[in-house]
Amino acid sequence: MQEFDVIARFFSHQNSQQNASSAGVLLDKGDDCALLQPSQGKQLAISTDTLVADVHFFADMSAHSIAHRALASNLSDLAAMGAKPKWFSLALTLPSVDETWLAEFSRGLFELADLHGIYLTGGDTTKGPLAISITVIGEVNGNTALKRNNAKPDDLIAVTNQLGDAAAALQFLPAKNISQLPLAQQNIIAAYQYPKPQLDAGQALLGIANSALDISDGLLADLQHICAASQLSAQISLDKLPLSDDLIAQFGQQQAIRYAATGGDDYQLCFTFAKDKLCQLTEIMQQQGIHWTVIGSMKQSEQSRHQVKCTLDEQPFEFDRAGYQHFSEDH
Ligand code: ADP
Ligand code: MG
Repeated sequence: MQEFDVIARFFSHQNSQQNASSAGVLLDKGDDCALLQPSQGKQLAISTDTLVADVHFFADMSAHSIAHRALASNLSDLAAMGAKPKWFSLALTLPSVDETWLAEFSRGLFELADLHGIYLTGGDTTKGPLAISITVIGEVNGNTALKRNNAKPDDLIAVTNQLGDAAAALQFLPAKNISQLPLAQQNIIAAYQYPKPQLDAGQALLGIANSALDISDGLLADLQHICAASQLSAQISLDKLPLSDDLIAQFGQQQAIRYAATGGDDYQLCFTFAKDKLCQLTEIMQQQGIHWTVIGSMKQSEQSRHQVKCTLDEQPFEFDRAGYQHFSEDH
């Protein structure tokens, strides 16, 4: 099968809700470039993420979930800015043309793409070690996008849904027969294989949150980016981190907190907002059925050290790299 046959067969998907013209695609895949019509008054938000086999995912994971993760991690970046997904391109590097694999990959890809109304405008197909690189483009009203650099002192810090399951899933993967594992373990694995990009939450935060990002490398590491960009520090109560019952049941409270604070791959949003927006935000999130939890607040930094500080039972608490925890020395 040639490159063009692969594209025609697996990546020329049409769906009933959206066609090229309703998606603002003036010229579809097939030429050297696609031509896109941005909506009036909108800014474009663009981001690329590459997933390399056995670095960012297990190559023997189902192709359906590989495709889902690849697109979800990109959509998550749009969610973090409050942008609405519009278009994406797909650069696929394949060791060989395996039709069964491609059919599953294509199914996983377009299930998620159709769910969020994002249109595949083109890409590239090459031979080599398995890797997937996706570029997403979204739209956001002029000058409203949520950024990392606008957190304010005394802002509350919150996260969507629950944290830690995806990182904990690596304890159970790779797994041959996932459907035969206990349900709690299947749920934890699903958090890793099928992350849900928080697009509704991101758009709900527009005009309310001062800063936001998505959690891909772990809450503490990612919140550090807001601190650095906003030149502030963050104070987090580890007791407040939202944890799933499955995670606590499988690993215990302490280890669950560790996964939630330091593990990656959650693709939840972390955001900050002024205290006087609390009522408005509570109402909007409730209307949309979005779970979220306040976990701390932003502070002025001492001596220009912009850092994330944690407490557990109101005592200062630090994680160290080796996975061993101890109380902070400078308190
Ligand atoms: P060029 O050599 O001009 O870069 P290609 O031969 O790589 O073009 O691709 C031909 C057309 O097929 C282009 O419009 C491109 O966007 C599209 N295409 C290639 N790979 C994919 C893919 N994996 N998914 C969707 N469209 C693709
Ligand atoms: Mg090419």
